[in-house]
Amino acid sequence: MALIVQKYGGTSVGSIERIRNVAKRIVKTYDQGHDVVVVLSAMSGVTDNLITMAHQASKVPDKRELDVLMSTGEQTTIALMAMTLHDMNYPAASLLGFQADILTDNMATKARIMSIGADRIKTLISEKKIVIIAGFQGIDSEGNITTLGRGGSDTSAVAIAAAIKADTCEIYTDVDGVYTTDPRICEKARKLKQISYDEMLEMASLGAKVLQIRSVGFAKKFNVPIHVRSSFNEEEGTMVVGEDSGMEQLVVSGITLDKNEARLTLRKVPDQPGVSSKVFTPLADAGIQVDMIIQNTRSGGETDLTFTVNKSDFEQAKRIAENVVKNIGGEEVMVADDIAKVSVIGVGMKNHAGVAATMFSALASENINIRMISTSEIRISCVIDERYAELAVRVLHKAFNLDKI
Ligand code: ASP
Ligand code: MG
Repeated sequence: MALIVQKYGGTSVGSIERIRNVAKRIVKTYDQGHDVVVVLSAMSGVTDNLITMAHQASKVPDKRELDVLMSTGEQTTIALMAMTLHDMNYPAASLLGFQADILTDNMATKARIMSIGADRIKTLISEKKIVIIAGFQGIDSEGNITTLGRGGSDTSAVAIAAAIKADTCEIYTDVDGVYTTDPRICEKARKLKQISYDEMLEMASLGAKVLQIRSVGFAKKFNVPIHVRSSFNEEEGTMVVGEDSGMEQLVVSGITLDKNEARLTLRKVPDQPGVSSKVFTPLADAGIQVDMIIQNTRSGGETDLTFTVNKSDFEQAKRIAENVVKNIGGEEVMVADDIAKVSVIGVGMKNHAGVAATMFSALASENINIRMISTSEIRISCVIDERYAELAVRVLHKAFNLDKI
């Protein structure tokens, strides 16, 4: 017998009929003798609607009140789910975030969970109740209702699983797992049986659509196994687990593509101490995150400095860079926003040589020029021209044998 947390997303509870289908799934697990704690999102579209209404009521809605409003989406689904279960003759009790003692910091609309008092949940479990908890919400130390940022129900579920020491946290969603790459780009993309927390974190660009990425950090910290699976079929999904859980390690388990970055090059800036600091300090002050950085040395005491930023920060970054170049006596700022970053990710890379070489050869075989490279312990990323992005993904998918796992 196990203690299982099941989280269902907005699409899975998007109508009364779907809530009933989910209820059937829940009781199936319950009837097998397991203890079940359910975490729900709002019905799909509801949170968006609430936010729209808030902006109709006020140009700049007060964040505390926004949280009071947004948290009602989940309040609706947990009550409806408990009623549905009662209608099927099963014992169930709903709990709002504060009733489940989900204590957060006071950052309205993007609060972080600080602690969860598991007692009330555990008491209900011991009474053999199916406990239905509202995702996405908590309470701060002053008693204000808070929400955890969009997609926050995943984090609620993982945090609750950690607090009650659940055996697994099942995240039911509208995709059936985590794939080696985006199936819309590469038809040979495969569902992975397992992936490590770190790989999942690196795959944020893929994974963010599946899980709120903050939930993965939580799962890693408390070693909660996550099972990402579809609520529309019975198939096994993908297990997100620790590296040391005996998982079979692929050298590369996924290929990601990010078209959201733009590149800036500061040409012929003085090659002197303090220059990088003069460039990156004003960017940091403006809250602009810089991703990749390379510095090429030229002769004659000058250097080129190239970096990438998110496209949404591009115009602002360009203005700042142009200013800096003027002040430090550089030549010009060159920019490109038609770039893409392809990355290969895998924990197996740590003890395998030649991954970079395989990646570069695969790209070369299609005449794709690499403009920038960056690496972490389990990732290699290359910036290339955007027009080759999809081709690059397919070539790499093949080169790392992901077509046939
Ligand atoms: N209902 C919230 C949202 O739409 C939280 C969630 O679904 O995870 O962002
Ligand atoms: Mg979600």
